Amino acid sequence: MARSTTATIHPEALRHNLGVVRRFSPASKVMAIVKADGYGHGLERVANALSGADAFGVAALADAERLRAAGMSQPVLLLSGFDDPDDLPRMRALNVWSVIHHASQLEMLEQSDGTGPLRCWLKVDTGMHRLGFLPDAVHEAYARLKSLPSVEDDIGLLQHFASSDEYLDSASRGEQTLSQLKVFETVTADLRGERSMANSAAVLGWPQSHGDWVRPGGALYGISVCEGKTGADYGLRPAMTFTTRLISVKKIPAGGRVGYAGTWTAPEEMTIGIAAVGYGDGYPRTAASGTRVKVGDKIVPTVGRVSMDLMTVDLRTCPEAAPGDLVTLWGEGVPVEHVGESAGTIGYEPVCSITRRVRFVED
Ligand SMILES: *Cc1c(COP(=O)(O)O)cnc(C)c1O
Repeated sequence: MARSTTATIHPEALRHNLGVVRRFSPASKVMAIVKADGYGHGLERVANALSGADAFGVAALADAERLRAAGMSQPVLLLSGFDDPDDLPRMRALNVWSVIHHASQLEMLEQSDGTGPLRCWLKVDTGMHRLGFLPDAVHEAYARLKSLPSVEDDIGLLQHFASSDEYLDSASRGEQTLSQLKVFETVTADLRGERSMANSAAVLGWPQSHGDWVRPGGALYGISVCEGKTGADYGLRPAMTFTTRLISVKKIPAGGRVGYAGTWTAPEEMTIGIAAVGYGDGYPRTAASGTRVKVGDKIVPTVGRVSMDLMTVDLRTCPEAAPGDLVTLWGEGVPVEHVGESAGTIGYEPVCSITRRVRFVED
């Protein structure tokens, strides 16, 4: 094969991780967040593996349509809601629930006369200051929703955390999360409806936020966003293994500079390996020299810049390595969280960035 860059998706790991989430939040229903093509793992593939979830959450109505086409019958929540009145009949027909975060959506609902009530989740901006009604606008928005015959009587209440990866034992002592919890509790105290607050980090570390529905994304894919922690620390398993092969193994002289701009210099005569993967496949170009990959079953550091099609590894501890050897970029034993950290981002971004030339397989 000319190019063997492969993303292997593990349905077993997805199912296992759903089980872990359920153990962390035993009293809550689980809305599996599958936005961005299932965090880059493939929407239909992920949904099939997670068919035991109680609902799905997506960012685009087209994704809800794909879930229905794939035979998923659970409710699907559109996390940013509709932004066009033409979406409403499709949402009703597909049993897609809508987040309501802005007065413009209330106006569209008031002007539409849909039949078959739409289930709505009112979003409270408890302090993240992205989507949602500020506390002083929540009761009016709730009342307007309640008064609409085209809206299901049973209105849900949700909020989103900005820093739930900072726990009580962190430097911040979870200050922002505690504040958001308090605001949500206070503003919704006299409102009826199911509650949903928790993303993955809150599922794992803020039990008081679990409410009626938890909304994990990253945890289902086995990825942690908590500093210094990987999914494995919570018993989660990576749902993706990203691999390629060495296509060259060679000796370079002491003082030899590796790759574009020669950012890494060989301290001695040494063996390097060239792996057939680069940012054209979605491996982050910003991943620094020293990012760990696995050659065969040995962890080795990368050296020099990641280019579009290739990257280079230090094989000094791996003298037996040869062209054709398997290189694991991330997966079991090579946490994608570390790749993300080395590239100045979180583990979610690399898995969402795999490009179309990469082959996807399931095991
Ligand atoms: C993405 C998202 C989630 C899931 O976040 P994770 O950190 O991946 O668990 C939950 N709720 C909302 C509104 C989201 O946008």
